[in-house]
Amino acid sequence: MPIEVPQHILDALTDVEMPRLPPDAGVAERLALGGLDLPVYRAACLVVGSGAAGLRAAVELARRGVQVAVASQSAWGGTSACSGSDKQTIHTANTADRGDDFHAMAAALSAGGAMDADTAYVEAVGSLRSMASLQYLGLPLPQDGLGGTLRYQTDHDEVGRATSCGPRTSRLMVRVLADEALRLGVPILNQTTVLRLLVEGARCHGALLARARDRGAGNPYGLGLFLAPVTVLAGGGPGEMYRDSVYPNGCFGTLGLAVEAGLDLVNLTESQFGIGTRREGFPWNLSGTYVQALPHIYSVDADGHEHHFLGAYYRTTRELASNIFRKGYQWPFHATRMLDFGSSLIDLAIARESASGRRVFMDFNRNPLPVAGGAAFSLDDLDDDVRAYLGKAGAVQAQPIDRLRHMNPLSIELYRRYKVDIAAEPLEFAVNNQHMNGGVAVDIWGRSSHPAIYAVGEAAGTHGVTRPGGAALNAGQVFGTRAAEHIAATLADHVAGDVAECAGKAVAAVLAGLGAGSGLTVAAVRDEVQARMSDAAGILCKAGAVRAALAEARALNGRIADDGIAIDRPSEVARAVQWRQMALASEAVLTALDHYIAQGGGSRGARAILDPAGDAVPVSAGGPLEDVRFRSERREDRERQILLRHGEGGFMVRERKTRALDQTERPFFERDWPAWLTGGVYRAEQGGA
Ligand SMILES: Cc1cc2nc3c(=O)[nH]c(=O)nc-3n(C[C@H](O)[C@H](O)[C@H](O)COP(=O)(O)OP(=O)(O)OC[C@H]3O[C@@H](n4cnc5c(N)ncnc54)[C@H](O)[C@@H]3O)c2cc1C
Repeated sequence: MPIEVPQHILDALTDVEMPRLPPDAGVAERLALGGLDLPVYRAACLVVGSGAAGLRAAVELARRGVQVAVASQSAWGGTSACSGSDKQTIHTANTADRGDDFHAMAAALSAGGAMDADTAYVEAVGSLRSMASLQYLGLPLPQDGLGGTLRYQTDHDEVGRATSCGPRTSRLMVRVLADEALRLGVPILNQTTVLRLLVEGARCHGALLARARDRGAGNPYGLGLFLAPVTVLAGGGPGEMYRDSVYPNGCFGTLGLAVEAGLDLVNLTESQFGIGTRREGFPWNLSGTYVQALPHIYSVDADGHEHHFLGAYYRTTRELASNIFRKGYQWPFHATRMLDFGSSLIDLAIARESASGRRVFMDFNRNPLPVAGGAAFSLDDLDDDVRAYLGKAGAVQAQPIDRLRHMNPLSIELYRRYKVDIAAEPLEFAVNNQHMNGGVAVDIWGRSSHPAIYAVGEAAGTHGVTRPGGAALNAGQVFGTRAAEHIAATLADHVAGDVAECAGKAVAAVLAGLGAGSGLTVAAVRDEVQARMSDAAGILCKAGAVRAALAEARALNGRIADDGIAIDRPSEVARAVQWRQMALASEAVLTALDHYIAQGGGSRGARAILDPAGDAVPVSAGGPLEDVRFRSERREDRERQILLRHGEGGFMVRERKTRALDQTERPFFERDWPAWLTGGVYRAEQGGA
């Protein structure tokens, strides 16, 4: 007998209120630099970003007695607070039935290749603690009657290690972590953008900031210094890099900041793309039950005519409908799933429709139409796995909207909150960029190639080519905790030094980047970068187009270096710096991609490398799609990572073997305990960035 979930319970899981921040404490110290009168903030550790990863690091630092502060462009902005899907997922070791095997889980986390094996094990074994502590803080993860966490299967997950609080899991994570941070008295500097890290040799003195509230007569741009001997980058992913994006608005991440600081970056070739509603409206992933409800997918041309375009790709109605269903747990585009009439043929078809100028919709009031000459859609005529799942879920209602309402009423509720009623009207959507798997290269404690800078969450490049759904949120929690442990244990190594010269250079660099009279505006740089990245570095890449895009990106960065970016008013300083950094970050991605393709790298993860001489070709109902012929992945690339660093002469690229994990070396209590007791565990030479 289905249980009707009362409205107030649905409301609490979709409409998650965030805590109020206490009034700003103000600042007593000031420093005169470059003709400006700058406020100076201080702490032992600065965390950049207040998403789930940054707040986890801050809470864990504060609990260890480290004086920590968070600086955030937007306290409850960013991906964790503002993104989700039908059941937004966190991926942790299975805690129901017979439990889990951490080595098996690590193997699953790194199955796509290019992931360090030690990192994968750290994330697997750390996931239990990350989940249990979130539950302790009040995260309402669903349980069975015996205390096991309810689980389901998600992307790249053969076992079913996914769990969820509903569409807003990561916002709920931010809320419980923010409540705890505020309870512990962690200062959160809101509306505060970090512009530049104050790196001087092996020291990082902290950061140069821009804060609206610090603008004044002696400081028109609102610049300020945050002095701290250790910094944690938790700025999220570079969501603004692509035009076609399901990130919330204003997600810049800290990749460009890391480039300017000269940090090593890794796996920048690896991202995730998939179907969702774009950020021009309400950005949201259309995974899980949205597609498992089996809506009709169609496009509309400029004259308003509908096209049943998927009918041209699949051979039978059953095959078409079963693949729509599989997008639920095979959400990200993957080149090999375009083969054998797999589920990524759907992404390809949608991307081609969008590129031809048609708009694509999902209609929950119509079942999928039949393919030409094929049988009508029937819930009894689906592949066995699909029929079994829907039967078990009790999703046997006649219309998709009723199946969706039955399986996940929150998913309908969610769009309603943003004035979109999917029960009444079709939903427009597209294939979008959603996640950056690469980022700042870190060791097994989240420490970057610079000893005083750590990176956690999406800012860090801990994932490999693929990642199971929910692994991003888990990685942020595990490494937020690990970085805090390491910082607390090694803080005494970081001695403060005289900051004046380094800070002066940072101020001068920011001001020099503001080109009064420059032909480049924030809007012009944004449009150019976003269009280039979506057109040349989306799911379908061609060697020549990537090379040409790289040349254009270099040319743009040359112009920005020479002329700067013009701003209309002082309040635009942060945006101008962020777009300069995004232009650099996009050049970094294209440099890595160009290197990978030039070395003979094949299609893996989010990108198909198209090549007329390629060995694989997707086939549609109408025959081979020769324009999408692609190179297959090479096995040897799975054990390698591409690293980049920016220096005087531009980007330097190198490759390294992924770090291994010696599985014969088992922990042994009496032998290993002293290293824990003395803190030696934090200083052991293993898992370097
Ligand atoms: C639509 C969508 C659905 C997703 N679904 C899932 C899922 O189901 N499971 C999963 O594991 N992952 C999912 N992800 C990915 C996951 O949500 C993110 O990887 C994760 O939330 C990132 O957390 P974070 O703390 O690293 O960054 P964010 O939450 O993005 O936080 C970044 C913070 O940094 C601040 N910031 C940025 N730059 C600066 C700066 N220069 N100065 C100061 N502050 C700065 C921002 O204001 C923000 O507070 C999804 C992503 C999207 C877009």
